[in-house]
Amino acid sequence: MNRKDFLKTGVAMGIGASLLASCKPGDDQLIEAPAIITDKKFKWKMVTTWPPNFPVIGEGCNRLAEWIYKMSAGRLEITVYGGGELVPPLQVFEAVSGGSVEIGHGASYYWAGIEQSFQFFTSIPFGMSAQQINAWMDYGGGRELWEDLYSPFNIIPFPAGNTGLQMGGWFNRKIESMDSWKGLKMRMPGLGGKVIEAAGATAVLSPGSELYTNLERGVIDATEWIGPYHDYVIGFHDIARYYYYPGWHETGSLLECIINKRDWEQLPEDLQEIVRTACYRANQDMLSEFEAKNNLYLKKIMDESDVEILPYPDDVMEGMKKIALDIYEDMAQRDELSKRAYESFKAFQNDINEWSLMGAKM
Ligand code: CA
Repeated sequence: MNRKDFLKTGVAMGIGASLLASCKPGDDQLIEAPAIITDKKFKWKMVTTWPPNFPVIGEGCNRLAEWIYKMSAGRLEITVYGGGELVPPLQVFEAVSGGSVEIGHGASYYWAGIEQSFQFFTSIPFGMSAQQINAWMDYGGGRELWEDLYSPFNIIPFPAGNTGLQMGGWFNRKIESMDSWKGLKMRMPGLGGKVIEAAGATAVLSPGSELYTNLERGVIDATEWIGPYHDYVIGFHDIARYYYYPGWHETGSLLECIINKRDWEQLPEDLQEIVRTACYRANQDMLSEFEAKNNLYLKKIMDESDVEILPYPDDVMEGMKKIALDIYEDMAQRDELSKRAYESFKAFQNDINEWSLMGAKM
């Protein structure tokens, strides 16, 4: 706020104070309560795209529901369902949109089939870090744009978790140059899949539950998953030779809480604020757990296996980035909503990079 704005606010506050002073106690306009707090209880169902109690994320959803329950003194009770328990994992968006459930937890890039532009609100290859995405959401116009694009679906989105930077993936063939992608079969969903395909690889879509067997049997040559913690639990270090970094395809995947607009509007203001605050906490809490556990399990992988942990060569990073940027420009040309999302994302990323790089040499 500059000095002029500050003065204006000061003047407005002065006027407000004198208006209040002129009211006698008992005047109707004296107290305008922000919300009428009643004992009305709400019971909501939360459907998620994660397996029940999935480490960090599914567990994080359970904690989110618990915080809301406690903060609201039991006035908003949310039961959390894993993917498939109430609706299939990839139908969470439709379920919340249609109002058969009130709330859901997932990631916007799963709904790329509904609107391509949604992908920009999770993570895109060579995109922003978790910290940068949060800044874009809270102070860079990202959230308003996201709300606008979800609005036709009667859904209000909230940032509610982040995986942080993921790992590049597990390989049984080395990536030494851009040519190494040719003929490689790799599990890589979404836009990352498009990038490796453009580089000559085949992107395979396997569910998480089949990845270990597929890699072990050579059905695929490589797979990405999440980061050291989740990857260790699956046991990829027992069957893969190389573990590449960084996960250029998922630089800080934002997870979302989505709420049906009508159900949201039925909540009194104090409960809305509680939900907003709990999502904010979940957003930071999941990222913190990811960061702490990934560090711990990276060391375990180093200590307990013979896997070679390798950086992608510089020319591969540059080559893949060029492909990714071409893909976004193409999307923006063909799809108006993608253009809006990409332009806002790109502008914020380019702008904040200078500031972020200040700390890169530490
Ligand atoms: Ca991943």
